[in-house]
This record gives sequence, C-alpha cells and structure tokens, in this order.
Amino acid sequence: MSAASATVTATYRRRVRVQLADGTSADARIKGRRLRPVCGDGVTVEPLPDDDELLITALEPRRNQLSRTDARGNREVLAANLDNLVVVAAAIPRPDWFVVDRYLCGAELNGIGGIVVYNKSDLDALAATREELANYAAIGYTTLETSAETGHNVGALQRLIGRGIAIVVGQSGVGKSTLINVLTDCDGQKTASISRKHREGRHTTVTSVMIDLEGGGQVIDSPGVRDYAPVLESFGDVEKGFREILAAGARCRFSDCRHLREPDCAVKGAVADASISARRYESFRRAVFLSEDLAGGRRF
Ligand code: GDP
Ligand code: ZN
Repeated sequence: MSAASATVTATYRRRVRVQLADGTSADARIKGRRLRPVCGDGVTVEPLPDDDELLITALEPRRNQLSRTDARGNREVLAANLDNLVVVAAAIPRPDWFVVDRYLCGAELNGIGGIVVYNKSDLDALAATREELANYAAIGYTTLETSAETGHNVGALQRLIGRGIAIVVGQSGVGKSTLINVLTDCDGQKTASISRKHREGRHTTVTSVMIDLEGGGQVIDSPGVRDYAPVLESFGDVEKGFREILAAGARCRFSDCRHLREPDCAVKGAVADASISARRYESFRRAVFLSEDLAGGRRF
C-alpha cells in the first residue's frame, strides 16, 4: 500500500482509528506533534515498515469543525465535517437549557445543523419542557421526542441524520449512549460491533468514536466531553450563535447594540412582547459574559 486517503473514526490519546476507502479499518499513529486529527477528518495515511499500524501524515481541509473552550480557556476541536449536532435533553436529569443553548451556539457558529432531542419520552415531561421544545421549533430548529427505552422516534432520528455525520451531545445521563446503541444496533451490523469493541475493549481511553448507521450516516459519540462552552472570540460570535437575537438585532437603534442596556433595543423589545423567549435571552446574556471572561483571559 502507498499513501492513501482515510477517515478518522476514533481518537484515543495519541492514537487514531481510521477507515480506508475499501471499508476496512486500521489503527494509526500521528506523524509529529502538530497534527491533531479528530473524528470526521479526512487524512492521508502511509504504511509503516514492519508494522500493522499506519502513519497519518496530513489532514485534509475541513468543511467545518466543532470547537470548544476547555476549563483553562484553551481551544479544542471535538469533531470535523459535521452535518448535524444532536443535542439531547431529558426529563431526568433535569434539563439545563443553557447547556443546550451553548451547544446550539457552537453549531450555529460553525454552520452545523442543530437538532434538539428530548429523550425518555416514556417518562412524563413537564409542561414547561414542551414550551421550551416549541420555542426551539419556532426559531427553526428540528425538535424530536424520543425514547431509547421503547424505540419511540428512533427511526425518525435516524432519518433526520440521513447519510450525514451527526455528533450526539448533551448532559450526562440523558441517554446519549443508550440512544446511540439503539440507533446502531439494527441487525447487529458489522461496523457497529467493531466500533463497540473499540469503545469498550482495550482502548479504554477513547475520547471520541464515529459509528456507522444503517442508512449510510454516522454518529459521533464523545463520552469524555462533560461540559461544553463554544469558542467565542467576539460579541459578533455570541450574536451569531443565537439566531433569533441576530435577526431581531438588525432593528436596534444602534448598529453596535449589545442588547443589554441600550435604548431602543429591538431584542429587548422582542423579549418584552415575548416574541423572543426570556430564557433564551438569558442564555444569550450569559454567553456574552462568558465571551468577556474569555477575552479578558480569565478562567471560568
Ligand atoms: P448518557 O450519559 O447521556 O450517555 O446516558 P445513558 O445512555 O448512560 O443513560 C442514562 C440512564 O438513562 C440509563 O440508566 C438509561 O437506561 C436511561 N435511559 C436512557 N434512555 C432512556 C429512555 O428513553 N427512557 C428511560 N426511561 N430511560 C432511559
Ligand atoms: Zn439591541
């Protein structure tokens, strides 16, 4: 084998699993210290003499990437070339909608579609939750109530993901792993079982894994990501991350309105007449403060 293209399907500490064009998979090492391949990346791999492992020598340009700011203020890319971000919430643990908004903000900033999934639909949802879901739908996000337990709407979620790549994110305990298992377990397909082996087998330090779906799409599971903050380099990034606020902001008196205390602010007007959700506005405000903390080099 000479140099070939491959797709990254799992990342461990400094090791990577790749899938080649013929559908086979191999473990790979990374050349040098600068390359940081993530799930979804297209890479160039070369054989290593007397070794089963391949060597990743280059990254192909990314269509997009989902990045986060970690607790020390460092930027980290979680996955690349995504079509959708599926953010999961559930009745238990109690939904933290600010977490959902932070993920949607990150997706928005990178041109990645957002799907809000409310899992555990077999449990009673609160009326307030239905209101939140209706609000996400009203601002143009796809919302779906699923149950990984009963299988309710799992097929619909699979159809929404289609042939694309989706990353599944959300608070711990909402059912992401269970949902991914149900999504990928159809007829015990080969690729899923290989991935599962790698998720639970000798590579216990997996940071991210991409699993094939029957319909041709893929889901990325990043079990290590406990908390998520988008990379917010400017006020413009925050505004872009909240689509209804960006839209309403075009009507503010001042073109540099930050929608916090300024007079004749169309965003505050929309919050006052409830055409923008007060809770989403609060998420926006918190994201503005987060971006200021990051800009000031402060840790959060
Ligand atoms: P994760 O931390 O988001 O990956 O969540 P898990 O997949 O580990 O699920 C957490 C708990 O919720 C487990 O006890 C699951 O059995 C349970 N769970 C997952 N999906 C559902 C569901 O649709 N309905 C109910 N009732 N429980 C679920
Ligand atoms: Zn304004």
